[in-house]
Amino acid sequence: MVKNVMYMSVSEKNNKQKGGVMEKLNPFEIAQMQFDQAADKLDLEPWLRDLLKTPDRNISVDFPVKMDDGSIKMFTGYRVQHNNSRGPYKGGVRYSPKVNLDEVKALASWMTWKTAVVDVPFGGAKGGVLCDPSKMSRPELERMTRRFTYEISDIIGPDVDIPAPDVNTNAQVMSWMLDTYSMEQKRDVFGVVTGKPTFLGGSYGRAEATGRGVATVTLELVKDEGLEPKDLTAVVQGFGNVGYHTARILAEKGVKIIGISDISTAIYDPDGIDVEDARKYAEKNKLLLEGYDKAEHVSPKESILEVNTDILIPAALENQITMENAENIKTKFVVEGANGPTTPDADRILNEKGIIVVPDILANAGGVTVSYFEWVQNIQREQWLYETVVRKLEEKLIKAYRNTRNLAEKEKVDMRTAAYMIAIGRVAEATRTRGIFP
Ligand code: NAD
Repeated sequence: MVKNVMYMSVSEKNNKQKGGVMEKLNPFEIAQMQFDQAADKLDLEPWLRDLLKTPDRNISVDFPVKMDDGSIKMFTGYRVQHNNSRGPYKGGVRYSPKVNLDEVKALASWMTWKTAVVDVPFGGAKGGVLCDPSKMSRPELERMTRRFTYEISDIIGPDVDIPAPDVNTNAQVMSWMLDTYSMEQKRDVFGVVTGKPTFLGGSYGRAEATGRGVATVTLELVKDEGLEPKDLTAVVQGFGNVGYHTARILAEKGVKIIGISDISTAIYDPDGIDVEDARKYAEKNKLLLEGYDKAEHVSPKESILEVNTDILIPAALENQITMENAENIKTKFVVEGANGPTTPDADRILNEKGIIVVPDILANAGGVTVSYFEWVQNIQREQWLYETVVRKLEEKLIKAYRNTRNLAEKEKVDMRTAAYMIAIGRVAEATRTRGIFP
C-alpha cells in the first residue's frame, strides 16, 4: 500500500495572524525559510538549491490494524526521505494525533542538516503515524508498529534508511520494528533501526544521548560566555526523553532547574526542583507531572517559557516560541532540545533582544550521533563501553559547536544561520561531486 504523494500545498490555516502580520507556523515552510536564509550566503547554484530544498521521496501509507475489541481501524503513516548524498537516510518515527505530511517533511530535512552539521555519514529522513498512543493498548501499539514497518519495509534497511525513536516511540517500538523487518528478511538485521535496548544491539548511552548533547552544548556556551553553571538557572519545557535527561545532566553540573513543564502542567520552584524526585513521580503517573506537590504549578503551563531564567530549553514540540510570546521571553540563552521550537519571526525577536539561540540541528544532534555509533557497533558486532560513547559524543558535539560559533562570529550571523551554512555546504559539496544520475 505504498503511495507516492505529490507535494502538498501549504494550508494558510496553519499560519497565525498577529497585528496584521501572518506568522508562518507550517513546519515545512519554516524549514524552507531557514534553508533560504543560509543558502543566500552560500551562493549556491540554482539547481542545487532546488534539489536540496526538495525531499527525495514522500511516502504515505494507509493500513488496517485489528483493535482489542475485534474492530478493524485504518491508520495513516508517513516516511519522508529528504536527502542521502552523504549516507543512508536517517531519522526518527513519531506517533502523534497531529502528525501530518508537512511536519514530517520538515523533520526529514532538519535531519539532513543535523547529520551534516555534526558530520556523521548519514542523510535525513523522518516518519510518523497518525494515532493517539495514550488511548491504545500495548498489543494495539505492537500490531500498528509491525504493520507500519511492513508497509515501509521496501524503503528501509541498514544501508538505505534507518529509523529511530522520536515523540511517543521508544526502545520497545524499535524492538518491534527490528523484529518485523528481520522476520521479513529471514535473518537478524540489527542495523535497521537505532535506539534499541542495550541487550538487543542498542548502544549504551543512546537513551540519554539527545539530552546529554543538549546539556553539552549548553555548558560549552556557558563557558564561552564566562559563566559558571552553579550560578545559573534553567527552565525546561517537556519532560520526556529529551527534557528529562537535559534537566538531569544540567542539574548534575550545578545548574538550578527552576521550571519544568509537560503536556499536563508546569511546575516552578525558584529554589530549584529535584529533577530525579519529579521524574520518579512522573514515572508512577503515566509520565505526567500533574499532581506533583513539591513545587508550585503554573497556569497556563505555556507561561513557564516566560519565567525569568538564564537558560531556556524548549524540549517538547515545534512552534512553542512564536511572535506571540517571544517579546516576553526573559533569558540569556535558548538551547533548542525540540525540533523546530522557534518560529523565524520569534527568532528575529530573540536576536534583537540579544538572546543567543543554539539551533535544534546542532543542540539536539546528540541522539543521531549516538544512533550513528549504535549502527557502527551493529555492523562491527561490538558493544562499546558507556564511557566511550559519552566521550565520543561530547567530542563530536563540542567540535560542531565550536565550528558553528566560529563561523557565526566570522560571518556576523546568528548560530542558526551558521549551522545551516556548514550543513548545507557539506551536503552541497557531496551532491555536486557525485553529480546527477544518469
Ligand atoms: P517524548 O515523547 O519523550 O516527550 C515529549 C514531552 O513533551 C513529554 O513530556 C510531553 O508531556 C511534553 N509535551 C507535549 N506537549 C507539550 C506542551 N504543549 N507543553 C509542554 N510539554 C509538552 O519526546 P522526546 O523524544 O523527548 O522529543 C521531544 C522533542 O525533541 C521533539 O521535538 C523531538 O522531535 C525532539 N528530538 C527528540 C530526539 C530523541 O532522541 N528522542 C532527538 C532529537 C530531537
